[in-house]
Amino acid sequence: MLNIKIEKTTSPRQKPDYNNLGFGRHFTDHMFIMDYSDGTWNNPRIVPYNDITLSPAAMVFHYGQEMFEGLKAYYTKDGNIQLFRPQKNIERMNRTNDRICIPRINPDDALQAIKAIVEVDKEWIPTSEGTSLYIRPFIIATEPHLGVAPSKTYMFIIILSPVASYYAEGLNPVKIYIENKYVRAVKGGTGFAKIGGNYVASLKAQMDAKELGYSQVLWLDGVEHKYVDEVGAMNVFFVIGDEVVTPSLDEGSILPGVTRDSCLALLKKWGIKATERRISVDELAQAYDRGELKEVFGTGTAAVISPVGELNYNGKIMTINDGKIGTISQKLYDVMTGIQWGNLADDMGWIERV
Ligand SMILES: *Cc1c(COP(=O)(O)O)cnc(C)c1O
Repeated sequence: MLNIKIEKTTSPRQKPDYNNLGFGRHFTDHMFIMDYSDGTWNNPRIVPYNDITLSPAAMVFHYGQEMFEGLKAYYTKDGNIQLFRPQKNIERMNRTNDRICIPRINPDDALQAIKAIVEVDKEWIPTSEGTSLYIRPFIIATEPHLGVAPSKTYMFIIILSPVASYYAEGLNPVKIYIENKYVRAVKGGTGFAKIGGNYVASLKAQMDAKELGYSQVLWLDGVEHKYVDEVGAMNVFFVIGDEVVTPSLDEGSILPGVTRDSCLALLKKWGIKATERRISVDELAQAYDRGELKEVFGTGTAAVISPVGELNYNGKIMTINDGKIGTISQKLYDVMTGIQWGNLADDMGWIERV
């Protein structure tokens, strides 16, 4: 158990317009901070949300030793506050930490910290349809030292942001560009870890795709440029004939999404054939030509389900389901959000009360 000191703000800020929240633009009154020094995590505290002070030599600025997580808190109709499978995020946080040499955090302590900061700022959880409180835990290397090595000191911080849906399009299908030049991850690399470094490496491809009118890129494997990995900040699923396919995690180049895992579990429960395997972009194109590529969708905490209406592969345009959301995508969205907002019974045991 952490002994969390709480210092409440004396000047609470104006809440944003909850009908026009956008995503990740507004932050709550408080934040959680815990330090790592002398070999232990220490001094857990909740303090007023504010800027933090770091040495310009802090290692995070030079060698990018940084990780993050993302999950949400929801207000149910009967006034409960709930989290969706937070233990999964915490397990993933520690797998990421191992990969980039950040010391692990005790999972019970991490969950306690998340619940504590959500409780302190619970008035900031929006209640209207489709909104939630996005929780962003992250860790940065703070030791002032120019030298490539793991930092000896860190900060673990949790900030909160009231959000609407991630894409301005909402549940409307997005256009995706299949990336044929840049790569995101390779076997043995950091693709499975949730780190800023993966994202900075993706910006250029993202910008080029935007210029062509596409909202995100679909990454192919880094070796053969043949097999599908994932989309920007989402995992990806394809409905081919009566089979649902998503790339397997074996290569370690894909971020193991909590939403991905949950969708696979629901599909299996519904008796729909759902397979994790390698899938080549040629197989997709052939399925498309046969008329069997019925649905494509991305999965992630921010958007939950994001239907894909168009894929562009080397100029070959594949229009999916007439640019409309498909039945499996819609059902997954309805059931996932139903459980998350407490409107459907949690028969999977996924909900954690705050
Ligand atoms: C966070 C993330 C996802 C989605 O993971 P969820 O746990 O479902 O939110 C997918 N891909 C990448 C690269 C990510 O960073």
